[in-house]
Amino acid sequence: MLLREIQDEILRLKQEKDIAILAHSYQSHEITEVADFVGDSYALAKKAMTLTQKTVILCGVRFMAETVKILSPEKTVYLANSSAGCPMAEQFNKTDIENLRAKHPDYTVVAYINTTAELKTVCDVCVTSSCAEQVIRSMPQDKIIFVPDINLGTYCKNLVPEKDFILLDGGCPIHASMTENDVFKVKKQYPSAVFLAHPECKAEVTKQADYTGSTTGIMEYAIKSDKKEFIIGTENSIVEHLKYKCPDKKFFPLSNNFICGDMAITSVFDILDCINGKGEEIKIDEDTRIAAKKCIDKMIEYGG
Ligand code: SF4
Repeated sequence: MLLREIQDEILRLKQEKDIAILAHSYQSHEITEVADFVGDSYALAKKAMTLTQKTVILCGVRFMAETVKILSPEKTVYLANSSAGCPMAEQFNKTDIENLRAKHPDYTVVAYINTTAELKTVCDVCVTSSCAEQVIRSMPQDKIIFVPDINLGTYCKNLVPEKDFILLDGGCPIHASMTENDVFKVKKQYPSAVFLAHPECKAEVTKQADYTGSTTGIMEYAIKSDKKEFIIGTENSIVEHLKYKCPDKKFFPLSNNFICGDMAITSVFDILDCINGKGEEIKIDEDTRIAAKKCIDKMIEYGG
């Protein structure tokens, strides 16, 4: 079967079976073409809440499918490829955080949304990369343990220096692998290009950026800008999506190695399997779901 035929079959079956397909922005173009909605992890979970379809197939990684299930417990949620985890989301477990809390009882635990449902149950407030600064500024507490990403945590600490941060040594291995030398090299090659970076990158990288923001923020910046050349400092699928969206502009990856294997693992065949009931359904026990949701509710309360 040709790719186009598989995509047509997916489009036909999802309509017939009343299924919605949600794809993270780091998914391949062939997947985003069959998706009902493409966005970052929290945007996908919020979108799921508004859908009329009772079944959702999430193309992305496990914590994203969990976030959909936490906010839409009445829906049947499939993770398109059950091997798709996020190394960062799984770097710390509940006991690690409980021990930290015991050691620093006057600190509030702020969790990046890239954490498991189980980890969120022992955290106080959730943040996304686009709302982290606003949420941290708005919350009344001044003493923060930021988990798990040291780079996003450092970025927030620099933006909100009046608050006291304890940072863990976690992070996205893909974004953290980029160095300032990568930036120097690509900037030398494309001196007029605007450099856009994700805050999961190290401070030595983001301090070279013309703009630092979430994947959605990076895409919106590039689309709206009147500039013609951009260096993209996040997962390379964004370079591909931007090339489709803005054919009159040029996009260069910060490095050809900026590829998340967990994001790349999902294929159109996995979607077809899920449509045919062969995928992994995400199940979260109700106590865990309610406790994890409190963390997300706090984010909304603080303007996230
Ligand atoms: S790019 Fe990084 S944060 Fe995103 S899913 Fe992959 S490992 Fe996790």
